[in-house]
Amino acid sequence: MAKGSDWPPGPRAASTDISFDGSTEAEVSSIRPDSYRFFNSTGHVQFAIPRGAGLSYAPAFFDRDSVSIRMNQFKRILDFDSDTGQVEVEAGISLFDLHSFLSPKGYYLPVQPGHGRITVGGCIAPDVHGKNQYRDGTFIQQVASLKLFHPFHGIVHLSRESEADLFRATCGGYGLTGIIVSAVLQAKPIRSQKLLLKAEKVGNCQAANKMMTELADESDLLYSWHDFSNLKSEDSPGYVIHARFKADDPSDSKTVNISSPPRLDGHWRRGMPLTLANGLALRAMNTAYKFSLRSAKRGKVTTLDETLFPIHGREIYYRLFGKKGFHEYQALLPHQQIDDYLQGLKEIIRSFGAPVFLASGKHFGGSQDLLRFSGEGTCFAINIPRRNNTDKLLAKVDDLLLKCGGKPNIIKDSRLTADVVRAAYPEFDKFKSTLREWDSKRLFRSELSERLDL
Ligand SMILES: Cc1cc2nc3c(=O)[nH]c(=O)nc-3n(C[C@H](O)[C@H](O)[C@H](O)COP(=O)(O)OP(=O)(O)OC[C@H]3O[C@@H](n4cnc5c(N)ncnc54)[C@H](O)[C@@H]3O)c2cc1C
Repeated sequence: MAKGSDWPPGPRAASTDISFDGSTEAEVSSIRPDSYRFFNSTGHVQFAIPRGAGLSYAPAFFDRDSVSIRMNQFKRILDFDSDTGQVEVEAGISLFDLHSFLSPKGYYLPVQPGHGRITVGGCIAPDVHGKNQYRDGTFIQQVASLKLFHPFHGIVHLSRESEADLFRATCGGYGLTGIIVSAVLQAKPIRSQKLLLKAEKVGNCQAANKMMTELADESDLLYSWHDFSNLKSEDSPGYVIHARFKADDPSDSKTVNISSPPRLDGHWRRGMPLTLANGLALRAMNTAYKFSLRSAKRGKVTTLDETLFPIHGREIYYRLFGKKGFHEYQALLPHQQIDDYLQGLKEIIRSFGAPVFLASGKHFGGSQDLLRFSGEGTCFAINIPRRNNTDKLLAKVDDLLLKCGGKPNIIKDSRLTADVVRAAYPEFDKFKSTLREWDSKRLFRSELSERLDL
């Protein structure tokens, strides 16, 4: 490896990074590598952190003392096997570009978050979930292998067979083990370009959970939406929304050409100086959302692209929260604790008078390890506007969550403390020690890693 003066090498620019939830902003020194020479050099090392699209709600992709390594020039498709559906990509490729490549070839990735600007590296590092976590697992399930760069180790090849511990610590390691350069992903055959989407009314969250449990094995998309505008009511009426591939018509296999995803980033999101997220907007949005479901109540044909990227064209939702931004509190609860959690959650929110703009459940399965937001249970997310008292409100929800044996989603929440995460994740210390065994100097650091004492 060539010895240089400083690592990371190359010209630096001053940039401002903002977490997508609007909580944190920092001036950072950034580098945009564009050739593999970058991974062939070392020298006097500085703290660094890789960045994908910068769409994480929490500041996982920057820190004021770390050089930001912007991976968006590494966006090529390196290899594709049309027999097996394995595709090798550079980590900075967006989900949209990858989907546009795979879809005409009859393949797609079942585990994808909802916006096409998000990158593959940004999905591997926090091990995100997609449309039906219970059936498809988290992003790691579709990673066959990856190449990781660390200036002390060079490029290493990780998979379940080779360096398995480091592979698991990297898929769900929040960028702290090094830079994911490329990955081999296992795509699945597309059964149809069309899906049948249904919205079924439920009287409360319990009924939604029961229905989701019944539908989980067979759904290609599954979640619940609840109206939390009346927190005095014990019930939270809503809908279970589910979709399945519609494979009864050969014309359904025709690829639909989708247009590029609209702009979405932390700077754009906070473009409105004032928040419009008030009680009036809440009622209007809930009414509009229910109205938008009217055709799905009867069963509606939708496209795969709309199913994978439901946020496209609806980005304005995040802008309504204005400059101050919003909180997402996403928690994973043991099934038997979800009723107590939701009752307690409503009481806390009511006592603070906060409007809940999103209340949505998902059915989760599988096992949990390290700092992965995964395992059996019910995942429940709320969005509330950021206000002066919302940190206090959510600290009470943290207590409730721990009492109920739940876990918070680390990549979604900028204010989680090390104590809460350590208490919720039994393998917190194991993750830390794996990280230190690999990198005793702890070279890769973000606001998230420092706040959580990783
Ligand atoms: C509209 C929207 C919808 C979403 N829907 C979902 C959802 O359905 N399910 C879900 O789980 N999440 C969801 N998310 C969260 C999102 O998937 C994650 O925050 C994801 O990490 C964002 O990817 P990114 O490319 O912006 O990465 P960034 O935000 O830039 O980085 C995220 C993390 O990945 C690391 N990283 C990025 N690239 C690399 C690399 N090459 N090597 C090593 N580490 C790297 C960074 O250091 C950081 O720790 C959503 C977010 C938005 C804004």
